[in-house]
Amino acid sequence: MQTVIFDVDGVILDSPHEQAWRAALAGFADPAGFTSAFYQRAVAGKPRSDGAVAALVGLGMPDATARAAEYAQRKQAIMQDLIAAGSFTVYPDALRALHRLHAAGTRLAVASSSKNAEAMLAGFTDLFIVRICGRDLPHGKPDPAIFLLAAAEAGSDPADCLVVEDAPAGIIAASAAGMAALGIARHDDAAALHQAGADLVLPDLDGLTEAALSALIKGTNHAKRV
Ligand SMILES: [Mg+2]
Repeated sequence: MQTVIFDVDGVILDSPHEQAWRAALAGFADPAGFTSAFYQRAVAGKPRSDGAVAALVGLGMPDATARAAEYAQRKQAIMQDLIAAGSFTVYPDALRALHRLHAAGTRLAVASSSKNAEAMLAGFTDLFIVRICGRDLPHGKPDPAIFLLAAAEAGSDPADCLVVEDAPAGIIAASAAGMAALGIARHDDAAALHQAGADLVLPDLDGLTEAALSALIKGTNHAKRV
């Protein structure tokens, strides 16, 4: 039984994570060093505590590990305010794809390391048969645990799953789980997704049709099994 497992931030919606991490830096490190490229490379997709350490270490803060918890806490407070204020955007192409696949009977799941994802998906949670958001797993992406858990809860064999991701770490996790991987390059970052091992990279989700889905799952997983 085929299941499509979606990452949330950067795939389904434009969350205010980057904005919150940057705003929370005041008093910790110079926010000017926290560029979008730095965020994508060092922080995106990581559980909050790991992201905080990675950001402060990456920005050269001497006592990064000792202050990471405080930084993560401040980021979360800002994040909750931003979500409550509706400061996030659901990508129209993602919503079209979710409704299209759901109407065709495809099983849909979400897998995000973010504990905030649920709140942002609130308007359309009924489209998903499984939601793995912010669960405490021993390792975050690129470890495949989160995708294997989603497949297990959906009752699908990993070889019958397609993962949709915008971050290289997520593509690597999908491959490690033995799943087909579709990279969504919304920010001119197709090369990094190809390099991470994406089976296909698209600029948005309008190209994710039932036919494309089946071809991806059959083609790539047969190749990966060999
Ligand atoms: Mg993402």
